[in-house]
Amino acid sequence: MPDRIMRAMDMPIIDHRGPEFARLTRRVLDGIKTIFKTANPVIIYPSSGTGAWEASLVNALSPGDHVLMYETGQFGTLWKNMAAKLGLVPVFIESDWRTGAKADVIEAKLREDKEHKIKAVCVLHNETSTGVVTDIAAIRRAMDRADHPALLLVDVVSSLACTDFRFDEWRVDVALTGPQKGLMLPPGMAILAVSPRAREANLSAKCGRYFWDWAPVFERNARGEFPYTPAPALIFGLKESLAMLEEEGLPNVFARHARLAEACRRAVTAMGLRMLAKNIKESSNTLTAVCLPDGFDSDAYLAHAQKTLELPLGPGLGDVKGKIFRIGHLGSLNELELLGALAGVEMTLTSFGVAVPLGAGLAAAETYLLQTAPGGLGQGR
Ligand code: PLP
Repeated sequence: MPDRIMRAMDMPIIDHRGPEFARLTRRVLDGIKTIFKTANPVIIYPSSGTGAWEASLVNALSPGDHVLMYETGQFGTLWKNMAAKLGLVPVFIESDWRTGAKADVIEAKLREDKEHKIKAVCVLHNETSTGVVTDIAAIRRAMDRADHPALLLVDVVSSLACTDFRFDEWRVDVALTGPQKGLMLPPGMAILAVSPRAREANLSAKCGRYFWDWAPVFERNARGEFPYTPAPALIFGLKESLAMLEEEGLPNVFARHARLAEACRRAVTAMGLRMLAKNIKESSNTLTAVCLPDGFDSDAYLAHAQKTLELPLGPGLGDVKGKIFRIGHLGSLNELELLGALAGVEMTLTSFGVAVPLGAGLAAAETYLLQTAPGGLGQGR
């Protein structure tokens, strides 16, 4: 979390029903539309990404509705489990946790569904458990080709404000996120962009809901209010986060993420390790999932990295537990921070007993960062 955001949050908590807070709320709800690339309303709940999943499902759907979901990894699986618990009928496309949701497979499933029992297609833009992305524009085109009226619900928890996402252009119906990734805030909010079609579906959607019900949230958010007690400190922080993203410029934010991600991938390859993502085109710009060689337990490696260098890496989740570790490279991050993390990975892998050529990963990352440095190689003289 940038210091600037911490300082912006370190404020006396003003009356969340007063005029000053209403002005601030309207300003951030308007400002965040640019990040989703939408002219549609964006709403906020005090919650987390899991709450945002629930809000998207219960507001747009009715018990018994079929929802087409994709096993891109642990988070795709959890969203599917939630849908089943809420009385929806997930049509789950199983996959290998190494690739994104395939547009042609989705198209075929939609074409089979002649009675239009499938009411929504739910996909993750970036599967945080695997470091694999899905081409959302391609999913939209596949839905159009199948001429299927299902809503398109997209989880952008670990992609928004890091990777290009176009809510209006790709005709997404609900995009949902939390604050703790690209927005660089502490956790504690669920943030959703909602299309007119999703709002229309909401009018007849029968899933039980009270806290999540869009109707009062839309009504009150439009006036700069909330139907419940919001988290003012996070709204203060969000104002600062939006200012920082605007100052850097979204295209530059995306380019920074892409460059640091590529440096990380080159480092991992130079270390002689395999990435979980099967195709480079589907590799995430926000995190890299790395496979440990057979015979090594990645949970034990993580504990070792934490103990020896206090290096916090992400664990393997679900099917890949104990097999992979994840290097996060999203949000507020620069070259030196990435290189520090990569040096830590090389050192701790070596001391854990994994044979990596010490320094090779760092050299590969440094070379790439120099080659792609603004102004070009050797221009600093
Ligand atoms: N979706 C994705 C892609 C995530 O990465 C996460 C959490 O990391 C979630 C949903 C769930 O969000 P939360 O843990 O904030 O409830």
